[in-house]
Amino acid sequence: MGATLFRWLEREAPNVLDAAVRGDAASQARLGHGNAMAQPYHHIILPLASPSDRRTEVRWGIEDFRRRFGRDPVGMWLPETAVDRATLQTLAEEGLGFTVLAPHQVAGSPADGLAGRVPLDDGREIAVFVYDGKLSHGVAFGELLKSEEAWLGRLLDDSQPPRLRAIATDAETFGHHHRGAERTLMGVVDGLRNAAGTRVENFASCLARHGADIEVEIVEPSSWSCEHGVERWRAECGCKMAPEVVSQQAWRPVLRDALVWLAGELPIADAAAAPMARGLARDRAAMFTSCAWFFDDIGGLEPIQVMSYAAHAIDIVAATDRERAERLEQTLLTRLADARSNDPDIGDAAWLYRSRIRGSHPLGSPP
Ligand SMILES: [Zn+2]
Repeated sequence: MGATLFRWLEREAPNVLDAAVRGDAASQARLGHGNAMAQPYHHIILPLASPSDRRTEVRWGIEDFRRRFGRDPVGMWLPETAVDRATLQTLAEEGLGFTVLAPHQVAGSPADGLAGRVPLDDGREIAVFVYDGKLSHGVAFGELLKSEEAWLGRLLDDSQPPRLRAIATDAETFGHHHRGAERTLMGVVDGLRNAAGTRVENFASCLARHGADIEVEIVEPSSWSCEHGVERWRAECGCKMAPEVVSQQAWRPVLRDALVWLAGELPIADAAAAPMARGLARDRAAMFTSCAWFFDDIGGLEPIQVMSYAAHAIDIVAATDRERAERLEQTLLTRLADARSNDPDIGDAAWLYRSRIRGSHPLGSPP
């Protein structure tokens, strides 16, 4: 769970937030290691981030985790499991011990399901767990969610079961994408607790008991949701939600290039900077939230959201230098005009920016 969702839960469903924290404490009491994993502060593709933004995102994610759970994180979940060696190096340098990846992202991962070891620069290393691809697909797409028995059967049906079997899915699988799936999950966990020779544990506990002995290699850059690496978040790679519909995603590189340009124009703030400068740093990272590039058209909610972070960053500049802010916005609009929507009623991203964002928040309104 990332910082954005935590903030929303704090406001809208504090009992759910509280249950997550209590769950982590209960797992620590039971296993000596907590269930919860940290996440970068924003849901951004770390291999595409600048080195300084990548480090800031990891540090802020760790800090947010400490504030929520009252302990240091051991593992970090990477948005879209997007990874490269530079990302793993940053995780290791910031004190993290493991992450979880898809089968196609790791070469030579241990057949028994235990963690592999990735040697890094400066004598550092990090452990990587690989989730079970078939089982995870069966859960994410609903086939195993129809009954506890089917799911349990697939988990336990093996003459030579691996020592660790992990499933990774989006959390919204349970209850949002599939109604009632959270109850099926609860039944499966109960069933596993009662199954002979089976232990329900978390990655940190497994790593502490077994270590990560076998050296593995990362396929880089890679992610769990783009077969072309991390192209989905910067190119028209062919990945889309509705392949049966004729549509273009040529707007993806235009949007990214425009925001990369703007980010380069914004000052980099450190922790000691004034609150306004920290607000700039937050917007600079937030405008690369991955969902903006994930879907098929620039007219969706998500691209508009990242453009509104860009607008907010420009507002912060305007508070001290209005002329500069106006110049930044003009150049940004020129660039965004090249990002065409598939919807002729929308036209391009510059129109979206003007009508959907500046329509209600003109430049210079208080950030
Ligand atoms: Zn792709």
